[in-house]
Amino acid sequence: MRPDILFPLFREITSVSGVGDKYAKLLRNLNIEKIVHLLWHLPYSFINRKLLPSLLSGKIGETGTFEVTTIEHVPPKFKSKPYRVLCQDQFENQLVLCFFKTFGNFLLKQLPPEEKRFISGKLEKFNNLFQINHPDFITSRLGDIPEVEPIYNLTAGISNKFIGNLIKNTLRQIPSFPEWLDAEFMKQQHFPSFSTALFAAHNPKSYADILPSSPARNRLAYDELLSNQLALAIVRQKIKKQNGRKVAGNGLLRKKVLDTLPFNLTNAQEKVLKEIFADQADESRMLRLLQGDVGSGKTIVALLAMLNAVECGHQAAIMAPTEILAKQHFESIAPICENIGIRAELLTGRTKGKKRTQILTDLIDGKIDILIGTHALFVEDVTFSDLAFVVIDEQHRFGVHQRLNLSNKGNLADILVMTATPIPRSLILTAFGDMEYSKIDQLPAGRKPVDTRVMPLTKIDEIISALQNKLAQGARAYWVCPLVEESEKIDLAAAEQRFEILQKTFGAKVGLIHGKMKEKQKDEIMEQFKSGKINLLVATTVIEVGVNVPEATIMIIEHAERFGLAQLHQLRGRVKRGNSAATCLLLYNYPTTQTAISRLQIMKETEDGFLIAEEDLKLRGGGEILGTKQSGFADFKLADMSVHQGLLLTACQDAKMIVTQDPELKSPRGEALRILLYLFERDDAVKTYLAG
Ligand code: ADP
Ligand code: MG
Repeated sequence: MRPDILFPLFREITSVSGVGDKYAKLLRNLNIEKIVHLLWHLPYSFINRKLLPSLLSGKIGETGTFEVTTIEHVPPKFKSKPYRVLCQDQFENQLVLCFFKTFGNFLLKQLPPEEKRFISGKLEKFNNLFQINHPDFITSRLGDIPEVEPIYNLTAGISNKFIGNLIKNTLRQIPSFPEWLDAEFMKQQHFPSFSTALFAAHNPKSYADILPSSPARNRLAYDELLSNQLALAIVRQKIKKQNGRKVAGNGLLRKKVLDTLPFNLTNAQEKVLKEIFADQADESRMLRLLQGDVGSGKTIVALLAMLNAVECGHQAAIMAPTEILAKQHFESIAPICENIGIRAELLTGRTKGKKRTQILTDLIDGKIDILIGTHALFVEDVTFSDLAFVVIDEQHRFGVHQRLNLSNKGNLADILVMTATPIPRSLILTAFGDMEYSKIDQLPAGRKPVDTRVMPLTKIDEIISALQNKLAQGARAYWVCPLVEESEKIDLAAAEQRFEILQKTFGAKVGLIHGKMKEKQKDEIMEQFKSGKINLLVATTVIEVGVNVPEATIMIIEHAERFGLAQLHQLRGRVKRGNSAATCLLLYNYPTTQTAISRLQIMKETEDGFLIAEEDLKLRGGGEILGTKQSGFADFKLADMSVHQGLLLTACQDAKMIVTQDPELKSPRGEALRILLYLFERDDAVKTYLAG
C-alpha cells in the first residue's frame, strides 16, 4: 500500500482548485497528471526581476524591474495604435509603456498620474526612448514581484505564471519525509535534503542553479536513479533466490543442427553460448542479457540455448515484439526443428479458432517443444507443460510490467533477453539493473562494409535514376520516409506522397508499408518484397527491427537528420544481412545545420554500433537513442543520462547493498526507501515482491 504520507501528492491534478478538466488535459501534454508530477517539472531557465536603480542599469532586450513615476497617459488617436503611458525614473530618464489592448479606465487606475509604481517587463528602445510593451507586473508593492521567476516548459494554453503558481503551492505541501539516503554519502556529495533540493531546483538564483549538475538537481537525479535501481534490484534478487533448475542436455540435438549449418559459429557466438550453457546448468535462475549488433547472429545462439532445454525434455519459448518478427523467427527456426525431429509452433494474436485450441492443448500435453510468438504468449490461458527456457527478443519494446509478468509465467524458467540495440552499459543498468550480460562482439566473416553516403534530397532525380539501374540489375531497396515525431498522420502523408512519386518511375514494383496497416496487409507487402514481386519498399519507420530480407542491399533514408544515429545504424543494418555489398544513402533536407550534417558523417566513418550509440548519447540523451521516450530505457524526468551516468553507477551499487542488507526493506532506512519507490512510481516491485 502507498504510504499515507504520500496521499496528498498522489491526488489527481483536478483536485487542485482552479484546475478543471480543460487544464488537466493541457497539463497532460507536460506529463502532469497527479500533483506529484508538478514537482518533477523543473524550470529550464529563470528571469531575474531584482529592482534596478535606474533605467540606465537595464539591458535592452532583457527583463528589468524599475521604480517609475507616471507623467501622463496618451490614448491612441487611431484604434490600430497603442495606448501609451509616459513615466520617468528618479533620475528623470523616460520610459514609455505601451499597451495594444486596453479596457476602459483600467490603466488609469493602475498607473495614476504622479504616482510611483514598480514596473517589470522586457526593456526595449524605440525612437531612442526606453519602452516596455505590456509589462509583466505593475504594482505599488515591490513584494508582489518575485525577485527570480523560474521559467518552465509550457504547452499552448498554459502560461508560465499559471504553472509556476501550481508548483509553488505544491512545494508548500511537501510532507517532511524521513531521509532515505545515507548521511555520510550525502555529506560527501554535498546533497541537500529531498525537500530542500526540490525547493532550490524550483527557485534558481543563478545560472549555476539550473545546471543539471547543481547539488540540488544532482540530489533529485540520484533519488530518481536510486528508485529505478532499487526496484530492479528487488525483482532481480527475488528471481535469483528462487531455485531454478539445472538444465544440461546431452548435446545431440545441438550437434545435429551445427552439422547442417552452412557456416561455423564465430568465436563470439561460441563464447556467449558457453556463458549461457553455464547459466543453464547452474542451480539458480538465469537472467541474462545478450547484446549483439544487427546481423551478429543472435538467432542461432538463441536456438542452441533452447535446444539445450529441449534435450532435457523441457519446453522453450521465444517471444518477439511484433507479428512480423515472430513469424520471421518461426520461418527460420521451424525447418531446422523439423529436420531434427522436434516440433516448433507459432502463436500470435492472429492464431485463432481450431488452430489456436490445438496449439494450446498440445502445449499443455508437452507435444510442442518450442513455441514462438508475440506477447500473445502472456495470455492467461497459455499454459506450458514444462517451460524451462524463455528468450525475449528485442527487449526494449517491452515494458517493465511485461518483464515482471513473464518471470512469473515460466515455471522457474531461465530467461535470456536479446537486443540488437547497441545500448551503452549505463542504459542497460537503467533498464535491467545489474543483470548478467553477454555480448557478441564480432560479426560473421565476409560481411562487406556498407557504402554510406550523405547527400541533400535535392539530388533526388539522380538518386532515382541510379536506383532504376540497380533495381534493373536485380537489387532490392528500402526507402524510409521522414520521421515527424509529432504526428503519425503527417508521417503517413509524407510516405504516401513519396510512394506516389516513386510509382511514376517504378510502377507496380514499388510497395508501401506503414504502421497504420493491418498486420495482415503488412505481412502481404513483406512477402511481396521477400519474393521480389516488388523490389522497392517505401516505409515509415515501422521497418521492424530485425526484419530479414537478405536480398535487400539498398537503404535510402529521407530526412536522415531527424533520426538518432543509433536509429540510423539499426536501419542501415537491414541491408547488411547477406554477403553482397550494400549501399546506404542518408538524405538530408534543407534547411539543415552544418552540425547536423557533420553528425551524419559519423555514419560514414564507422559501423560500430557501440561507438555510434555513445556518440548519440552524448548528443541526444538516452530516450532518444531508442527513438522513443517510452522505450523503458532511461525514461527519467530528473536524471539526464548525458550528465548523471556516474550517479547511476553509484545508485546501482547502493541498491545492491540495500537489498543484501535489508531485503524486505524493514529497517528504518528501508521504510524510508519504500516511500522513495512510491514517490517515483516504482511500486510494482514493492507490491509484487515485498511483504507488507
Ligand atoms: P541478428 O543478430 O541481427 O538477429 P541473425 O541471427 O538474424 O542476426 O543472423 C543474421 C544472418 O547471419 C542470418 O542469415 C544467419 O543465418 C547468419 N549467420 C549467423 N551466424 C553466422 C555465422 N557464424 N557465420 C555466417 N553467417 C551467420
Ligand atoms: Mg534478430
